[in-house]
Amino acid sequence: MNEGFVKTPEIQALLDRVAGVGVPDGNARAKAIIRDLVEHLMVLVARYEISEDEVWQAVNFLQKGAGEFGLIMPGIGLEHFIDLYLDARDAETGKSGGTPRTIEGPLYVAGAPLVDTGANLTQDPDDTTTLYMTGRIFGPDGEAVKDAIVHIWHANSKGFYSHFDPTGEQTPFNNRRRLRAAEDGTYSFHSKMPKGYSVPPNGATDQLMQLLGRHGNRPAHVHFFIEAPGYRRLTTQINFGDDPFAKDDFAFGTREGLLPVPNRQGDSAHVAFDFHLQRADSGDDERFSARERLSVAA
Ligand code: FE
Repeated sequence: MNEGFVKTPEIQALLDRVAGVGVPDGNARAKAIIRDLVEHLMVLVARYEISEDEVWQAVNFLQKGAGEFGLIMPGIGLEHFIDLYLDARDAETGKSGGTPRTIEGPLYVAGAPLVDTGANLTQDPDDTTTLYMTGRIFGPDGEAVKDAIVHIWHANSKGFYSHFDPTGEQTPFNNRRRLRAAEDGTYSFHSKMPKGYSVPPNGATDQLMQLLGRHGNRPAHVHFFIEAPGYRRLTTQINFGDDPFAKDDFAFGTREGLLPVPNRQGDSAHVAFDFHLQRADSGDDERFSARERLSVAA
């Protein structure tokens, strides 16, 4: 079927009615976006001669896979695209510089214990290497950032996160803390070394990856939010540069400048990593994105 079919007066009139064009109520921007979105879907149906069966297969996939949208978003590169898009917009407004942002992923939990720098993040037994991470948080003029809070979360040595562990073995907030950096901007913590992980076997993300001939693995990594008064909130993560998936992350979360190689000696591994924040132009720059996150009382 020719894609021109979508441009016929009958289909265009249908799209206008779908999007409430000419109806006074509703939101004009939403109307324009929904009209475009539905038209693009119609073009795909015509271009690929998608069958009725395939349409409903896709709907079933989205309905059943809704619980994994937080993984599908990075898996299809959309979460990384948002980072690249925000970078490009920043460049247009002269806001470049600092530690690169990268994807948050779906596994942050609000409400982690607030602790002082130097803390141990791992309260559950985990027979693996101990990770020691140290560094300093700088502002754009090389000044030490004061009153910074570093939110840290990572998986255990089996690749599972507390609060999302299918084995049920971890206690709340294991490998999750909000760390108060020192007044001179330095921070340090230790914890049990995380392992990379894969998407849940046979889940929606896994099915999608198989369809594309891809894998669903991430290298071992540590997530961070950094907030400090007067500075722009940073969402980032380090992925270990010596992990087999360091250059082949299914979630596209690995970025140049965020791939430190741990100094591994015996049963310890040390990562030295400094963070560089941008100055906040407004209170809006300091706040977290509006994403819905699990919140648990500590
Ligand atoms: Fe993660």
